[in-house]
Amino acid sequence: MANFKTHISWGVVIGIALAIICAVYSLTTSFDVIFWVFLFTVVGSFLPDLDVDDGIPFKIVFGLLSSGLAMLVCFYFFDQGNKNFKYLLLLPIGVFLVIRFLVGYVFMQLTHHRGMFHSIPTALVFGLMVMWILKKSGMQDGDNLILSAAVFVGCIVHLLLDELYSSIAFNNLKFRSKKSLGTALKIFSSSHISTFLVYFILVVLIFALHNLEMFSRFEFL
Ligand SMILES: [Zn+2]
Repeated sequence: MANFKTHISWGVVIGIALAIICAVYSLTTSFDVIFWVFLFTVVGSFLPDLDVDDGIPFKIVFGLLSSGLAMLVCFYFFDQGNKNFKYLLLLPIGVFLVIRFLVGYVFMQLTHHRGMFHSIPTALVFGLMVMWILKKSGMQDGDNLILSAAVFVGCIVHLLLDELYSSIAFNNLKFRSKKSLGTALKIFSSSHISTFLVYFILVVLIFALHNLEMFSRFEFL
């Protein structure tokens, strides 16, 4: 199994490669977007390891999510002209603690390493989720497509690396299959519930994006 350092290193390499392709072929509307292509690929390259209990990806994502939402709550009440410290300080701290620790704890209980988080449909879910968020925030469709593809590519590179590290012993370069071989690049897991849930979310996202006319340029959809 590849470790965090390996995933980040390859995420950076692939991110730079994608950014260069976007710059050379002028695939984005502005130069700023090229930086985000790099960043989204790097984020995608460690997302599947969110299922490692209290691992670095978990700490990064839940840390950012909880502090981001806490800040949003604070800004919301400040914007409403509310100057009560209960709403500006205590409530955001409460939101931070609930998301980071309570939701985080439930998430850790519901996921297990190399379960459905390490699968092709979940990589698609991550990509389409980003596509939905960017579409909702009004990003231009072409840039949106490239950024969500960057997340998807990052995830797939992660899964490929996990499989590669399961099949090759890098110290002596001899083929030696490990028990984890085949547990990363898969389309379903041994848990029927999590497999169903992932495909359900995938279908919901496809319908939601279709309703937002994200796929209108593809006539077959
Ligand atoms: Zn992994």
